Amino acid sequence: MRTGVARPAGEPDTARIAPPGTDWARLGDTVLYWADDGAPWDAVRDRARSGGVPLEEGDAPGPAADATLVTQVGRVFQREHPDVPVLVDKGRYLVVALGEEHRARIRPREREEVCYRVEPLRPGTVVFRGVTPVAREPAPDVQALADAVSADAYRDVLTELVGFGTRHSLSEGFREAAAAAADRLRALGYVVTVAPIDVGSGRSANVVAERVAPHRSPRGVVVVTAHLDSINLAGGPAAPAPGADDNGSGAAGLLEIARVLAAVRTRHDLRLILFGGEEEGLFGSTQYVTSLDPAARLDIAAVVNMDMIASVNTPEPTVLLEGAEVSQGLIDELATAAATYTSLKVQTSLRPFNSDHVPFIDASIPAVLTIEGADSANQNVHTAGDTLDGVDEDLAHGIVRMNVATAATALLADA
Ligand SMILES: [Zn+2]
Repeated sequence: MRTGVARPAGEPDTARIAPPGTDWARLGDTVLYWADDGAPWDAVRDRARSGGVPLEEGDAPGPAADATLVTQVGRVFQREHPDVPVLVDKGRYLVVALGEEHRARIRPREREEVCYRVEPLRPGTVVFRGVTPVAREPAPDVQALADAVSADAYRDVLTELVGFGTRHSLSEGFREAAAAAADRLRALGYVVTVAPIDVGSGRSANVVAERVAPHRSPRGVVVVTAHLDSINLAGGPAAPAPGADDNGSGAAGLLEIARVLAAVRTRHDLRLILFGGEEEGLFGSTQYVTSLDPAARLDIAAVVNMDMIASVNTPEPTVLLEGAEVSQGLIDELATAAATYTSLKVQTSLRPFNSDHVPFIDASIPAVLTIEGADSANQNVHTAGDTLDGVDEDLAHGIVRMNVATAATALLADA
């Protein structure tokens, strides 16, 4: 049994700030403390006092239950398990108290891996953190490309995507959306392949657009990705699934990046991929990565994924950059671009979950998910209610600017 309490943290996350005899975990600006030997909260308070790290008056004992970390898409976990007490609510991330009665019901199954992950909250875990990146001197050519991102063009494409009614991977709407996106990318001058993929026993597709730089040495490929498909979990392939935020917002972002970078002569290759089968379990991205031979994997310098970039979950417009150790350098680049070319706040996490960056990371390719900030969550994800009404164009615009700047910086670099 553990005892814990949530309180705001003013210090970086090191065990140094935890009172002796206590464990901790960070979720953004909240640090959760609990006794490392199962002692009650009074003991934590005494240890804090004698250790010179007094807890604040008003801190209260947490529930006596093993703390469990949930990572969810939207509010899917809470929708399915409304009776599970939530100790800390950070939208994408929850700390919950799982009692015996819940454990019997909440156990791993395919659906959970798609919609949420449940795991013990281990001591010393940084689930995510807010960072304050330092801006660099803007590069004029990169600044011009960031400034070329158009709110009108973005809105037009997003409206078209939502207009298909559903982009369920196995639907006619998806096929039409994929064909329209492929046409749009071809018209911009890219070499486009619509590659079939398996989604369970059905068939869907990835749309892959490429522009190979004329003179390349050494070679590097900058990859921008987003999933094109949508889903209505309660309905079937024909049910309304406008998927405005998830993931019309990211797919429209990719097509806007394609437009902005279409005419730029770069030193490195640009590849843009709209995946199918994401909502059913990352089928498109998994099969894509599997199709790459070792040399093709090594060619990839960076993968910037967009999935849900248009729902405001934070007091100020915020992007969460989610990757793994292999992508720390790219996270830093994205954070610097955010500080230099946008007014976005930045959160980071090294706990990759459930989007198309994961298969790349699993293959040791530097990939980062760029997603709306994590303090709260889009309630309407995976329902008919994920409509244009919930879209915040300014947030999407900021994230697309950051990604254009990051891609352009890498594409124009000497080496
Ligand atoms: Zn998504």
